[in-house]
Order: sequence, then structure tokens, then C-alpha cells
Amino acid sequence: MTSAYPHDINVDLHMHSTASDGALSPEALVARAAGNGVQIMALTDHDTVAGQQAAREAAAQFGVQYVHGVEISVTWGGETIHVVGLDFDPTHAGLADILAGIRDGRLGRARAMADGLVAHGLPDLFDEAMSHAENPGLIGRTHFARALVARGLCPDMNSVFQRYLTPGKPGYLAHTWASLSQAVGAIRGAGGVAVLAHPARYRLSAIGLWALIDEFKTLGGSAVEVVTGSHTDREARRFQQLAVEHKLHASRGSDFHAVGESRFDVGAVPPLPDATRPVWHGWAH
Ligand code: AMP
Ligand code: MN
Ligand code: MN
Ligand code: MN
Repeated sequence: MTSAYPHDINVDLHMHSTASDGALSPEALVARAAGNGVQIMALTDHDTVAGQQAAREAAAQFGVQYVHGVEISVTWGGETIHVVGLDFDPTHAGLADILAGIRDGRLGRARAMADGLVAHGLPDLFDEAMSHAENPGLIGRTHFARALVARGLCPDMNSVFQRYLTPGKPGYLAHTWASLSQAVGAIRGAGGVAVLAHPARYRLSAIGLWALIDEFKTLGGSAVEVVTGSHTDREARRFQQLAVEHKLHASRGSDFHAVGESRFDVGAVPPLPDATRPVWHGWAH
């Protein structure tokens, strides 16, 4: 199957499985992607490559082109930034080390998050959050959010984050992840492409965003997400222009986590605008 024009291919390069904070197994996620007409996909779990082999094997069965993926948590200028890595060697030791280091901090953070909620008068949700995390090493805010919704303490995921799990709220804890240089360096070292994830989500001034992109490019980062489940159409247009201005390739991904939670289904985000050069340009299809 070939396409004359890379924008016409249904490509989804950002989604999560039970290996991090998604609700579907890698296999079920690939089946869903195939059913939705996705032609090239990457599973990009937070801070782990545990789901890569299963996703790759399932993709081969479904005839979907598979690219290895990961979404690395980074602290930059006091802000949490996500860097997606694509098309790398998932067995690379340097990358594995960085990811293991990030995961190490998650358990203690989760305990402290639970304590913060208890101090606010909520029950101790540590065990319940853990029960929502199929991969305990990846325990995070989404698992706490699911526990709070399951208890009926919040009506939906969005309100949990707004009430409890964002900066300044009782279940939020400032945390230091990897450095930008470690994340981009590990992705590049493993032969991959580094993509700045959902740039509109960061609380950065225009100058801060410029500085981030400048440093990201200097470190070897080469693409930015333009169309993502985390961007409005307006934000996608803004970052399309930014990609062109900064000579960055553009990526597209749903950031799908779960049915009923995510704004867009796998492969169902709008197409990438024409003016951008897709990050998948040149990947065989
Ligand atoms: P963590 O890595 O533990 O800080 O968790 C971050 C994850 O929380 C993100 O990857 C999203 O899946 C989820 N998240 C963050 N903000 C929101 C929100 N407003 N609504 C739903 N999920 C969110
Ligand atoms: Mn997530
Ligand atoms: Mn993210
Ligand atoms: Mn994501």
C-alpha cells in the first residue's frame, strides 16, 4: 500500500496502553487502531517501553506499520514537558537507564500524592490508585483520577484534575523528572526522532516557548506535535506556523488513553495541515 502524498495517510503517533496510563492492552489498542483505519502507528507509553514488543507484534498481525514510541517526562524551567521519541531501538541501554530513573521516582510521588489528598480530608486512595495501574512502576495522576471517579468523589476525569491533581491543588506534587538533554539525548542515542509533545499545554510565555524550542533543537530535537488530542483547532494552526518558522517536522497523534476519557479515538484526530512536513515523511509505507 503506498500513498502519493504523506498527509493522506492515517498516522497516529501518540497513544497509551496499560503499560502506562491507558486502559487498553497494547494488543487491544492496535486492534482498535486497525479498525479505525490507522496505517502507521506508535504506542507512546509514559516513561516505559514495556508495551513495545506486544504492540509491534500485534501491528504485524493487523497489517499496520509500526514505529517504536515512548513519551518521556521532563522537567524544564520548573515546568513538566513531554518529549515523544519515535522510531528508536527499544533495547538501547542508555534509553532504558533514563526511563528506569524516571520510573524510580513515581512510587514515592504517588505515596505523597495520596497523603496530600488525605490531608485535604479525602480517604487514603493509594491502594485504589495502585489497583488501577496495571504497571505499578508507572503509577501516576491518571490512576488516582480513575480511583476518585470510581469512588464517586468526582464526576469525571477532567474535574478530578481541575479540583485535585493540577499545580496548587491538594493531590499535586512538584516533581523533578528527566532533564530535556537526558530525554532528547537518550532518544537520539537510540537512533530515534525526538518530538516536542502537545506544546500548547505548557504554561510558558512566548519567550519561554521560544527558549524551549531553541534548546530542544540544539539538543537534536526535530519535530513538534501540531495535531494532537490536546490541541484545539486554533492551537493546531498556531503550532503549524511555529513548525514552519522553526523548520521542525510536524507530528500527529490522538493521545488516546481510554474510551469515554479521551477527546479523540485512535486515528480520529484531524489531518495534519498541508504546509507542514510530516515527521513520517520518508518512512516506508
Ligand atoms: P503524570 O505523568 O503522573 O503526571 O500524569 C500525567 C497524565 O495525566 C497525562 O499524561 C494525562 O494522561 C493525564 N492528565 C493530565 N491532565 C489531565 C486532564 N486535565 N484531564 C485528564 N487527564 C489529564
Ligand atoms: Mn497520560
Ligand atoms: Mn503528554
Ligand atoms: Mn500522552
